[in-house]
Amino acid sequence: MKFQQVYAVVDSEFRLLWVGGEWDEFALQNAAQHALANHVLSTSLLAHIAGDETRRLTARLVETVLQTKRPVRVQYRCDSPSMARSYQLTIQPMKDERALMVHDLKDAWHFSPPLNIWHYDPNARDCKCSFCGDIRFGGAPDWTSCDDIGDRHPTHVVYEVCTRCQDTVAEAVRLVLEGNAFTPALDSEEVPASGQSRDQRE
Ligand SMILES: [Zn+2]
Repeated sequence: MKFQQVYAVVDSEFRLLWVGGEWDEFALQNAAQHALANHVLSTSLLAHIAGDETRRLTARLVETVLQTKRPVRVQYRCDSPSMARSYQLTIQPMKDERALMVHDLKDAWHFSPPLNIWHYDPNARDCKCSFCGDIRFGGAPDWTSCDDIGDRHPTHVVYEVCTRCQDTVAEAVRLVLEGNAFTPALDSEEVPASGQSRDQRE
């Protein structure tokens, strides 16, 4: 089960003050089962993110919003072996040094053929980008798109962040620091204001 929309409110120490929407599906997909909603409140968001670089970039995005009091937006993928799913993460400043994180499902399509089922394994040689799902096979210099990898998808992976997604996050941070309200989407499809209208209800 994949989520369609998830909210979380964090403070400047990344403590989860509130979670909503389909948090449990999100947690099961992205972290361990101990991250279910009942157990995460007042724990650190970062404790529930796999991969050092993914943690570092997520922290950087939240810190940028808290520091500038301006929103930031990035696209990412959260796929299952049979379905590709494109999400938008919008982080909005709130009062009292808090930030609202909204994950919205924007698009989904079937992989054909489906990918192999994969598992997180800290000793795996192959890497999977936790932002776009691309794969770097053990020892290879380059990343391979997960969209045409099919049954060559590794069954055991560690989570890292590919060069392109590192650049995308750095660019999103840079634009916000320079005063831009939002960042371009990865696929250049700009998104309607649905996320904003929901945010404003908070
Ligand atoms: Zn990537």
